[in-house]
Amino acid sequence: MSSKPFNPFQMAQQQFDKVAEILGLDQATRDLLRVPMREYHFSLPIRMDDGGFKVFRGFRIQHNDARGPGKGGIRFHPQETVDTVRALSMWMTWKCACVNIPLGGSKGGIVCSPHSLSMTEQERLCRAWVRAVARDVGPVLDVPAPDVMTNAQHMLWMLDEFEHIHGGKYPGFITGKPVGMGGSLGRTEATGYGVVFTIREALKELGAKAADTKAAVQGFGNVAQYAIELYQQIGGKVVCVSCWDEGAQQAFSFLKKDGIDLAALRKITDRFGSIDRKKAADLGYEIAPGEAWLEQEVDILIPAALEHSITGENVHKIDRRVRLIAEGANGPTTPEADHVLQERNIFTIPDFLANAGGVTCSYLEQVQSNMNYFWEKDEVLSKLDVMMTSAFIAVSDTAKKRKLSMRDAAYVIAVARVAQACKDRGWV
Ligand code: NAD
Repeated sequence: MSSKPFNPFQMAQQQFDKVAEILGLDQATRDLLRVPMREYHFSLPIRMDDGGFKVFRGFRIQHNDARGPGKGGIRFHPQETVDTVRALSMWMTWKCACVNIPLGGSKGGIVCSPHSLSMTEQERLCRAWVRAVARDVGPVLDVPAPDVMTNAQHMLWMLDEFEHIHGGKYPGFITGKPVGMGGSLGRTEATGYGVVFTIREALKELGAKAADTKAAVQGFGNVAQYAIELYQQIGGKVVCVSCWDEGAQQAFSFLKKDGIDLAALRKITDRFGSIDRKKAADLGYEIAPGEAWLEQEVDILIPAALEHSITGENVHKIDRRVRLIAEGANGPTTPEADHVLQERNIFTIPDFLANAGGVTCSYLEQVQSNMNYFWEKDEVLSKLDVMMTSAFIAVSDTAKKRKLSMRDAAYVIAVARVAQACKDRGWV
């Protein structure tokens, strides 16, 4: 095991440096894009249900807004670090540029464990986060969204607080709102479905049919569940999923050789995406260690949990049969592991292309909120399919033309667009 602690921001910078070199960017553009433009760090004192106070750390980091208002989720996580949020904000800039939507990149977070907070404590936390950054976010500045362990309810509390502070209705301030309260139909499915739109296109390139493939998935939250749903609809079979068990403080994998039953597993899963182990065992699932998802004899791996899951230490455990990896999560593959995947010729759909369905649908939600006119679900999902498919084709064409990996090609497209926007504005 490597003793060096993993730093996602250093990883994001390494990835950027490589592309800056490929594109031959000038020094000022590199200096501008290598770090976030603005960072907000704040303390959030919260009155707990027992009457006492607890102080939480919160962040909002705006990496770049040359192409439009910042966009990016807010995560609640006990191990959240400022460097994770920095990296995620940078990846948001590339993701929005890669799918060619007129938005920049931001990210936010609160260091907390929502499992141990009541709903009223979570509401106070959401409202306090908004109060801390209310002047620096908004529909034309920076638009938050849900992410790990935050959901539509959290977004609505945040919107309500923002509207109280600014004295008006600003549904375009935040996305991922509940349907009927400014949310878009299709947003819940968007990220997971988007992952599968890209898998479908990649399989065409690999000359394979979804119905002949099997997949293993890390995670069983929002992204994973909807990716599994659509992947099964196009004929694929999922033989393994994994999730975090808060009580045991470790991850577990759930195996079913003839394919998991999504509906049955959903029934025994809590709102944080943790599957009840005992009930799963009763349903005939083999329970294995958390990393077992990576070692399955499958065609496709879908990491859809957290960053840093395919590393230099475990990449060699990936089965010889695996031909495709679709990164549902942000930053699941370290550069060291990525190198091995390229050597092994495993087609990897990089995170900011594979999971861009979420932000693309968020953009569609913003558009609907701003014009106060809402589309049917089919209309939203078909627009999403068109946008994801065009982005996939553009990246794949660039990869072939410039003899680059899909990740490098996606970076080349995204970074070139952002660099050009900075140049056109006269920033560098
Ligand atoms: P979620 O909170 O709904 O689910 C996370 C899942 O990962 C849960 O099932 C949890 O048990 C599992 N998990 C956590 N640690 C694990 C571990 N060590 N091993 C195995 N499983 C583990 O989160 P989500 O919204 O599904 O997001 C998952 C990933 O996708 C994150 O990287 C997030 O940043 C990224 N993402 C999410 C969206 C979105 O729209 N939700 C969009 C783009 C990217």
